[in-house]
Amino acid sequence: MKLLFEISKTGRKQSLLPELDVKETVFDQKYLRAADPKLPEISEVDLDRHYTELSKQTHGVNDGFYPLGSCTMKYNPRIDEETGSNAGFTQIHPLQPEESVQGCLKVLYDAEKYLCEITGMDGMTFEPAAGAHGEYTGLLLIRRYHQSRNDTERVNIIVPDSAHGTNPASATMAGFKVINVPSNDKGGVDLEELKKVVGKDTAGLMLTNPNTLGLFDPNILEITRIIHEAGGLCYYDGANLNAIMGRVRPGDMGFDCVHLNLHKTFATPHGGGGPGSGPVGCKDFLKQFLPGDTVKEENGVYRFTTAENSMGKVRSFHGNFLVVVKALTYILTLGKEGIIEASGKAVLNANYLMEQLKDLYQVAYDQTCMHEFVLCLDELKKETGVSAMDIAKGSLEYGIHPPTMYFPLIVHEALMLEPTETESKETLDAAAAIFRELYQKAHDDPEYLHNAPHKCPISRPNETEAARNPILKYESD
Ligand SMILES: *Cc1c(COP(=O)(O)O)cnc(C)c1O
Repeated sequence: MKLLFEISKTGRKQSLLPELDVKETVFDQKYLRAADPKLPEISEVDLDRHYTELSKQTHGVNDGFYPLGSCTMKYNPRIDEETGSNAGFTQIHPLQPEESVQGCLKVLYDAEKYLCEITGMDGMTFEPAAGAHGEYTGLLLIRRYHQSRNDTERVNIIVPDSAHGTNPASATMAGFKVINVPSNDKGGVDLEELKKVVGKDTAGLMLTNPNTLGLFDPNILEITRIIHEAGGLCYYDGANLNAIMGRVRPGDMGFDCVHLNLHKTFATPHGGGGPGSGPVGCKDFLKQFLPGDTVKEENGVYRFTTAENSMGKVRSFHGNFLVVVKALTYILTLGKEGIIEASGKAVLNANYLMEQLKDLYQVAYDQTCMHEFVLCLDELKKETGVSAMDIAKGSLEYGIHPPTMYFPLIVHEALMLEPTETESKETLDAAAAIFRELYQKAHDDPEYLHNAPHKCPISRPNETEAARNPILKYESD
């Protein structure tokens, strides 16, 4: 496909600028360009076609099934975009006087109230811009807590080996040492191993439940009790809230603070780098350390307040506010019953799809899953030479997005599928048929899968190079 610069023809224009309605300013010569910028010149229809064509070169949740596990690429209702683009929310400035943005403050206030109810927390900050940023913020809360008690020996954060890579990374960035605990044969935390690593140096534990294997740890109360008895705090990675929202609350499982990924659970489309939102909720005793401003209400008037021992700020202004608008819309449109139904369907859909596949593919932990499950393709690879990567690339041939590959790290040749709650039985049946066909193909024509995808705009880029050194500039001659 040609770039705009390549289809540009000098003199072709399409811009109709409005008439100047302010006094014309003449800039000092030193601020002016010596030559015109080299911008593409294109007619409106060609520009429209260019972007339409471009949109066909990718795969989004609006194109088809997108079971990217641990990412929750679910369909987000249009109404959430609608409120998120309301001028009353978009045409404001963060430094506007509070009395002129009361509606916006109410959004933050209500969102905090509902999300605290859903998570079992007492206070929340909306500053963090994503899940990992929330983890970092939550760990700083834990750090502040121990410091405030002059308990400075607590330098370790315990993280299970099934954790998302951001957990150990955030703990390290927050100045802690990461202690790994292995999983038991059911995919949960090994309690005996956990008991061995807790002590006076334990600052806390980071855990997601259900974990990245899609399994709910039935020992959760015991786990958080062990940490608390050792004097540590418990941090809940809320990225998997899709499986449990409305049913069980991190606060009731013994967690002291939690982040949510509004862009996974609460209706903001993601991928491509944001914007996201990773609000951090905490129990009462940690509220004093929260960063930034939170909204208080008095006699129907909303205003910002800063916590007495606030850690300062972790991001400019009030975070990605429009993502919060979408989350609140999502919560209000679903209501209590809808939230409970969404998590129920997410779990039902994952179990349904798993059952459709497990006679052919090996399930990493063969038990009832939550909102996602992990296949282990070790056997298939030994038999046919076809890897998890080959199956994933092959799925693109059939018009569905690949599952997550090679994660979590503790499963060999892993494929992780999260169908999400919004998919119909027909879509799940069609996806199951595709994965079954891919299994057959692996036996009949492995070469075909080694070289897949065949029909996509690009086949197999060097993934590291593509992520680290993308060429985003056009070099004109
Ligand atoms: C996605 C995810 C994160 C990180 O969240 P981001 O918003 O991508 O920074 C952390 N933990 C788990 C389990 C996740 O799935």
